Amino acid sequence: MQLLKDRILKDGIVKPGNILKVDSFLNHQMDITLINEIGKEFKRRFADCPITKILTIEASGIGIACIAAQYFDVPVIFAKKAQSLNLDGEMYCSKVESFTHKKVYDVILSKKFLGPEDHVLLIDDFLANGCALLGLIDIVKESGATLEGAGIVIEKGFQNGGQKIRDMGVRLESLAIVDSMTDDSLTFRD
Ligand code: 5GP
Repeated sequence: MQLLKDRILKDGIVKPGNILKVDSFLNHQMDITLINEIGKEFKRRFADCPITKILTIEASGIGIACIAAQYFDVPVIFAKKAQSLNLDGEMYCSKVESFTHKKVYDVILSKKFLGPEDHVLLIDDFLANGCALLGLIDIVKESGATLEGAGIVIEKGFQNGGQKIRDMGVRLESLAIVDSMTDDSLTFRD
């Protein structure tokens, strides 16, 4: 998505540890005009899928998922990060290792909101090593719902998450794939 790539080149900042900071437009301050175009683009790419729910993970996926959901006309559900687990059988649960915080979280979703009748689109801001997406895929599997695909705003193609997810046969649509980044250069996959 050219508009997004241009914005990353203009405002993205490369930080040590393979972190791309896009907090001036995507995941701290949010440029709603841009995110609206991102939502439309996800709809265009998944227009052939009978999506009934969009599933994301807190926190930074939520705003993006909500804007996209207006084009799909479906609810958004988000997996919550839980520090201590009170497993009462009413929650789907998976584990996610945070790339940015290097911590392992339990992520939970109420069973009330996802079941075998659902067709799910996963949405998140970044794909790095794939842990967040794999956690969400686990939850979808546990629920018996159909996974239609995953929409990612920025995939870091030099980390292995994208490869893992595609090798699982999941339809993965990333709007910008960064192939390399250094302090003064950033390249995208075509
Ligand atoms: P993964 O689980 O694929 O390793 O990492 C994905 C999650 O880590 C995303 O939900 C995102 O919040 C965070 N993340 C990974 N890489 C980056 C990055 O380069 N920049 C930012 N801002 N967040 C990232």
